[in-house]
Amino acid sequence: MNKFEQLGLNESLLLAIKDLGFENPSEVQEKAIPLLLEKDTDIVALAQTGTGKTAAFGFPLIQKIDAENRDTQALILSPTRELCLQITNEIKLYSKYIKGLNTVAIYGGASITEQANQIRRGAQIIVATPGRMQDMINRNMVNIKNINYCVLDEADEMLNMGFYEDITAILSDTPKEKSTWLFSATMPQEVARIAKEFMRKPLEITVGHKNSGNENVSHEFYLVSARDRYAALKRLADANPDIFSVVFCRTKRDTQAVAEKLIEDGYSAAALHGDLSQAQRDGVMKSFRGRQIQMLVATDVAARGIDVDDVTHVINYQLPDEVETYTHRSGRTGRAGKSGTSLVIITKSELRKITQIERIIKMKFEEKPIPSGIEICQIQLFHLANRIKDVEVDHEIDAYLPAIEEVLKDIPKEELIKKMVSVEFNRFINYYKKSRDLASDGGTRRESGTIPTDGAVRFFINIGSRDNFDWMTLKDFLKETLDLGRDDVFKVDVKEGFSFFNTDASLAPKVMDVLNAFSLQGRKINVEISKNEGGSNSRRRDHNGRGGDKRSGGGFRGDRNSRDDRNSRDDRRSGGNDRKPRRDSKFEGRKSGDNERRGRRNEGDSSNFFEKAKRSRRS
Ligand code: ADP
Ligand code: MG
Repeated sequence: MNKFEQLGLNESLLLAIKDLGFENPSEVQEKAIPLLLEKDTDIVALAQTGTGKTAAFGFPLIQKIDAENRDTQALILSPTRELCLQITNEIKLYSKYIKGLNTVAIYGGASITEQANQIRRGAQIIVATPGRMQDMINRNMVNIKNINYCVLDEADEMLNMGFYEDITAILSDTPKEKSTWLFSATMPQEVARIAKEFMRKPLEITVGHKNSGNENVSHEFYLVSARDRYAALKRLADANPDIFSVVFCRTKRDTQAVAEKLIEDGYSAAALHGDLSQAQRDGVMKSFRGRQIQMLVATDVAARGIDVDDVTHVINYQLPDEVETYTHRSGRTGRAGKSGTSLVIITKSELRKITQIERIIKMKFEEKPIPSGIEICQIQLFHLANRIKDVEVDHEIDAYLPAIEEVLKDIPKEELIKKMVSVEFNRFINYYKKSRDLASDGGTRRESGTIPTDGAVRFFINIGSRDNFDWMTLKDFLKETLDLGRDDVFKVDVKEGFSFFNTDASLAPKVMDVLNAFSLQGRKINVEISKNEGGSNSRRRDHNGRGGDKRSGGGFRGDRNSRDDRNSRDDRRSGGNDRKPRRDSKFEGRKSGDNERRGRRNEGDSSNFFEKAKRSRRS
């Protein structure tokens, strides 16, 4: 008898489990499945991400559903549409040998009538996001008045995203006599509140420590100055040639900008955030799962709960606002018993957050220096050499060999190796030859007195009237990008190719951090403390004495809603259908042809560099 059989699961599930290749139940499955099969009870199960919670509720749920009866018997609520689709998929796999069992996904951003039709055809299990579910209840498109089971998956995140009201409204539409199963990675107060208000004597299962970090994940941070954030990201990627990672940014805007920059620089990257259409998001996820994308740049909300195995690195391009969110981020790696690394790119002003996180995850961070250009080139070189050694030769190539040999016949072997390696490798040499190594003491530069700590600070920024800004639109842009109040940006002075503005000194680190990581229509924004004094105190007025908020025509208009996924969650009530992405996401990968082109373009004498690299390796 295998372990799953011992838990009491029936034949059709066991067959499906075999197909899935699960050999042993995970801890949460071992604890939850027998309990849930045995009796109808409420349950609160706390377990880290990646511990197999979907099957922990999915298996017993499927076994308890009456597939002959076409009424809706179970509702699973989950925070995002990605997760909703993921759970639906899993449930379908688990129940593939059970005839007549239908599972339907309900989520925003897709046709509500189509979803209603699917439900009308009979759906014993509905997997839904709260917003869309509420919508369908209001329109009488679903009937959950007779369900027997309600699962709240990722309850902490649903509440985090402000779904409390939706959840309580939905629950009040379900019968009193039912079982509620709550699954969560953490147990903040709001989750406890839901448990208290809507559940009857729930049994509690805890796997591992509450709120603890995943044991398989190691945590590292890299201290840089704000303006080096992107360069640091690039180096971390280059120092890990087989990287398969999720890169977290704080805002949708940064997410888009960083992804675009990576693509421009030849990486197979893509953005995932709430401004993309459903189809775009699905496309991105498909490419990521299929490994055509190596670096998925995402907002917290968009990436929450996404289950992609074998993610090697989570990169915190910026730390989240809430330190608790860090646990969710790092849980994207180190799944299913594999090890993973969570990297944090950080400036000195954020250092104290590391201590806070350490307290939550009960693990220590290791501080590491950003790899030097030489180190990276060595890593890449050996990686390349190994790839050449291991590559399987496709004998289709044989037909072309005579022609190739003809071209290369006069080059000695030694030289030929050098040339072959250079095809791929020159782009690294050329980049790192030119770029200075990043100081790991980044933040100290700021402390050494370049940013005053009180009074007003005057900034220089490399955008101006040529970019269609006037003082009002620039001020609006700064306020929106920096998330500042009406009077926080003042003395805005727009010149043709650049501009000046003031903020209070306390805002200066944020101004430098946020704006220097920002690209405007593909151009990297550069902000510096202006040597040009001008920080006098008239905060109320911009020049010309105009203080109003009226915009003049033209100029860049920020999208107020784009700062935070929460403002434009995919499935808020209505409107989800017609949201247009602001920009098309491009996600061409890093094709080998790209490298070649780059290599050729940058061809040059690399012998110096190899010499240097050799010397440094010896020492
Ligand atoms: P959670 O919801 O706890 O974050 P998931 O349910 O998404 O975790 O499962 C994480 C991954 O582990 C999935 O790829 C899933 O298919 C896999 N998995 C779940 N249970 C098992 C098991 N018993 N054996 C092997 N892999 C499993
Ligand atoms: Mg889950």
